[in-house]
Amino acid sequence: MKQYEVVIIGAGAAGLMCAATAARRGRRVALLDNSKKVGKKILMSGGGRCNFTNRIVEPDNYVSANPHFCKSALKRYTQWDFIALVERYQIPYHEREHGQLFCDHSARQILDMLLSECEKAGVSLVTDCEIQTIDYSAGYRLATRQGDYETNSLVVATGGLSIPTMGSSGFGYEIARQFGLKVLPVSAGLVPFTFSDRMKGVTERLSGIALPVAISTGDRTFSEQMLFTHRGLSGPAVLQISNYWQPGDTIRVDLLPGESAHELLGLWKKEHPKGLLKNLLARRLPKKLVVELMSLYWSEWSERTITDMPDQLLKGIADHLNGWLLKPAGTEGYRTAEVTLGGVDTDELSSKTFESKRQPGLFFIGEVMDVTGHLGGFNFQWAWSSGYAAGQYV
Ligand code: FAD
Repeated sequence: MKQYEVVIIGAGAAGLMCAATAARRGRRVALLDNSKKVGKKILMSGGGRCNFTNRIVEPDNYVSANPHFCKSALKRYTQWDFIALVERYQIPYHEREHGQLFCDHSARQILDMLLSECEKAGVSLVTDCEIQTIDYSAGYRLATRQGDYETNSLVVATGGLSIPTMGSSGFGYEIARQFGLKVLPVSAGLVPFTFSDRMKGVTERLSGIALPVAISTGDRTFSEQMLFTHRGLSGPAVLQISNYWQPGDTIRVDLLPGESAHELLGLWKKEHPKGLLKNLLARRLPKKLVVELMSLYWSEWSERTITDMPDQLLKGIADHLNGWLLKPAGTEGYRTAEVTLGGVDTDELSSKTFESKRQPGLFFIGEVMDVTGHLGGFNFQWAWSSGYAAGQYV
């Protein structure tokens, strides 16, 4: 029987941060992972460059049934704390649009930095360690393929369900249920949309085309690039809005963000009375998209000049351009999702320590709980902040 003051399950972003923080405080920490290689999601993140945080992090960048839950941890370990760590390790980085910070060279540098922090603090990292059972009576007893562990503080950092080939599992949710904690329904987040019927053909034919748009659902709008794919729609604007989309919802795509299509068509009618709508639209939108829009909605006007088109029709066209209503058939699911929405209910946890309110010594950190960030480095920041907060307490 191996005894540790703290046992952490899951050596991903949150688990590594928590382990290093707790061990630096002098705690005896074992960090167990069922994979042979740890931090796989860090390595594949940000196209291999790891978007490790964002210059501006607000609670509003997170989706959770309790929008206030994330505030305390984000305040106690901020993006500036993580940036300071990155700078201490002299890892070169750069800022991209919307404040996103990426490594100049490789995500491996972030993983190596966290592993080095763990090693320096004396964390026992155990890989290829499948946990068979967890029992509780006064303390926790874990039976694993690498022997039994005993601890008073058990931290669950097993992440979400996205990218099953990367070792994702629902194990964290099982542990929560075993100890009577409520788990909110989970679904794929930051994920491309799929379409059926006519729109499927449209997106297939347009695949590879990207354009700036503003996409909305409910009261949320994201202004970024949208990409047509063989299966549907992707790109940052689509991934962002997917966090707020429910099956059956319609999304609204403004193809001319920041511009009134109504005024634009009025101007064209004055300045180019003999112009064809398709040629005029091609000044602002990709030509192939114009062809598809014309054939979907305005085919009978394809060869008529803009002057021929009644004002009422032009108003309808303008409304369409500033608010193309689309109904996704679904999402690509966990296969390509960056994150998992939902998870362990934050009402069950202390927002300061991440300890369960009903089960002493049991902690949940990172993506396994019901806190999901926007695209842009916010999910890693949540892993760092929640990992640090629990690491300070365990
Ligand atoms: P994870 O990092 O997923 O770690 C969980 C760990 O638990 C893993 O090591 C896993 O092997 C282990 N584990 C799972 N089940 C068990 C078990 N039964 N027993 C033992 N161990 C187990 N976020 C950003 O902020 N910026 C980005 O650039 C970014 N890019 C991404 C790109 C991709 C392709 C993906 C999929 C995600 C990306 N994310 C990004 C999201 C980010 O990776 C996650 O939100 C973050 O890794 C969550 O950290 P975590 O520690 O909670 O979980």
